[in-house]
Amino acid sequence: MPEYITHEHDVLVIGAGGAGLRAAVEASAAGVKVAVITKSLLGKAHTVMAEGGIAAALSNVDDRDSWRVHFADTMRGGQYLNNWRMAELHAKEAPQCVRELESWGALFDRTPDGRILQRNFGGHRYPRLAHVGDRTGLEMIRTLQDHGIHLGLDVFMEYTVVTLLKDGDRVVGAFGYDRERGRFHLFQAKAVVLATGGIGRAYKITSNSWEYTGDGLALAYEAGAGLQDMEFVQFHPTGMIWPPSVCGLLVTEGVRGDGGVLRNKEGRRFMFDSIPPLYAGQTADNEEEGWRYTQGDKNARRPPELLTRDHVARCIRTEVREGRGSPHGGVFLDISWIKDRIPNAAEHIKKKLPSMYHQFKQLAGIDITREPMEVGPTTHYMMGGVRVDAESQMTDVPGLFAAGECAAGLHGANRLGGNSLSDLLVFGKRAGDYAARFAKEHSQGKVDPEELAEEERRALKPFENHGPAPYIIQYALQETMQDLVGIVRTEEEMLQALNTIQEYKKQAGSVGVPGHREYNSGWHAALDLQNLIVVSEMVTRAALERKESRGAQFRDDYPTKDEAYAGFNIVVSKGASGEVQLRREPIPPMPDELKQIIQEMK
Ligand SMILES: Cc1cc2nc3c(=O)[nH]c(=O)nc-3n(C[C@H](O)[C@H](O)[C@H](O)COP(=O)(O)OP(=O)(O)OC[C@H]3O[C@@H](n4cnc5c(N)ncnc54)[C@H](O)[C@@H]3O)c2cc1C
Repeated sequence: MPEYITHEHDVLVIGAGGAGLRAAVEASAAGVKVAVITKSLLGKAHTVMAEGGIAAALSNVDDRDSWRVHFADTMRGGQYLNNWRMAELHAKEAPQCVRELESWGALFDRTPDGRILQRNFGGHRYPRLAHVGDRTGLEMIRTLQDHGIHLGLDVFMEYTVVTLLKDGDRVVGAFGYDRERGRFHLFQAKAVVLATGGIGRAYKITSNSWEYTGDGLALAYEAGAGLQDMEFVQFHPTGMIWPPSVCGLLVTEGVRGDGGVLRNKEGRRFMFDSIPPLYAGQTADNEEEGWRYTQGDKNARRPPELLTRDHVARCIRTEVREGRGSPHGGVFLDISWIKDRIPNAAEHIKKKLPSMYHQFKQLAGIDITREPMEVGPTTHYMMGGVRVDAESQMTDVPGLFAAGECAAGLHGANRLGGNSLSDLLVFGKRAGDYAARFAKEHSQGKVDPEELAEEERRALKPFENHGPAPYIIQYALQETMQDLVGIVRTEEEMLQALNTIQEYKKQAGSVGVPGHREYNSGWHAALDLQNLIVVSEMVTRAALERKESRGAQFRDDYPTKDEAYAGFNIVVSKGASGEVQLRREPIPPMPDELKQIIQEMK
């Protein structure tokens, strides 16, 4: 057996974003030895980009809020395909998780009487997002990493895991390489937590960082775990569209929460024209009421700009397709108009949305305190992911846990803004807790040396190949997903995508990279490509299977919601001979008390 640098821990956490760090903190506090692996530097994981805030029913700004309302909002947003137990735990535990973060030193904006300030966000009935300006993710990461380091976590920065290792049915570690030197490392662990984030890089236009190549989903799939809800990819309505170099970069929903409005080229607030019946009772039907809502009037209903993301994104697409878009193919998002309503509006905007102000000023030459922004939909978030148990976050594979964006269940068919950061805290904590318990009950497993040698050969193959550069296939795949499995889908186009993806799969086996193993970004891309192909195929297969429109999935050939599809989640897994297996997993009946909450909040 070749000699590998070997590391032994009780719990191995793959990913140093909010979910991974929260899991690592919890496991470490339980007294077990914990390692965290990240592809980037500590503090740079994608969570750092989160802007708007953490959704938690603290009831600091509106005392009508409670876990019950948050639960009902989350279920309605997810079109009732959510794992209701996860939605319940999330709504109940998020406030305590935010207070815990505060007690570890996180700073938040404050109400006049010194409590954590909360802002409005799409789909949330009351102001619910705890935030610090529009840099909440940075504060979360900073706090968790400080806290984790003091607990003695071992951190492996700029490492990539290429496979999970199993002893029989159980996961017993991971195999990967350090990106700087290209050397292989063996990580043995009694329990492994996946916290690798999402898949946005499978699409051409995305708000996601380079790390979002779906690694955790592909690792779990190959290890035998089920992937659930893969058809539900969230397209955020407001990404930058101009200049081309920043196309897709996120424009936080906080802009709309603080009074920003969407207009087409005729100056019309088109969102008033399409309020879905499910939300009609909670949505303002005139501009005046919408404005009052953003200013904290408890008797006002929210403006239609704050409807769920899937709906707003499709309305923008319609405006553009019907010729009412902005010059660069989007619509206008205007917050500068609030100068007609409040004194010192420019200062107010800069204080509430400092990153947005700088982003537009520096990247597009636009002063958002004076002029509107141009925005359009961007691939943003993956509702689907690794199927987990609600209480423990354990996957179908013993010893393997998953939390955060790479796990599925909480959000159903559509995630509400702010519900991801709270998801990371609530379920990161649970994953860490249960992984530590599992580790205490098990010993280290056996690793098969043949398997390691085989994985090393597979990983190094691109150096021997003479095929195309990985980027060529990666770009082509992103175009395919954007055009054929994007915001609006049809069977014909998705079948075409599936055929093309099979071609890319073959070509990916022959991609070649020049040079050596030391910080070779071409090699990294060649390995990421395998994961992008796996997740793209699963998204397409699940989207084909769901012959209806619901939440983030919009089918032009089945444009309405179909009750026949309301009672199950679609799960894909790897069959014994490597084939893709797809099943409809019935959603267990909801307890009466939760049903009643939903009924009361309608
Ligand atoms: C611009 C932007 C703004 C957002 N704003 C908000 C917001 O205000 N509120 C909200 O709730 N949500 C927001 N979101 C969504 C939210 O930020 C993410 O869903 C969340 O941060 C994901 O956290 P995570 O811990 O699951 O993953 P991440 O933070 O992405 O961490 C993933 C980690 O896994 C590592 N990793 C991946 N693959 C491997 C591998 N093969 N080997 C080793 N390590 C690996 C990565 O290096 C990284 O450390 C926003 C998203 C974007 C893009």
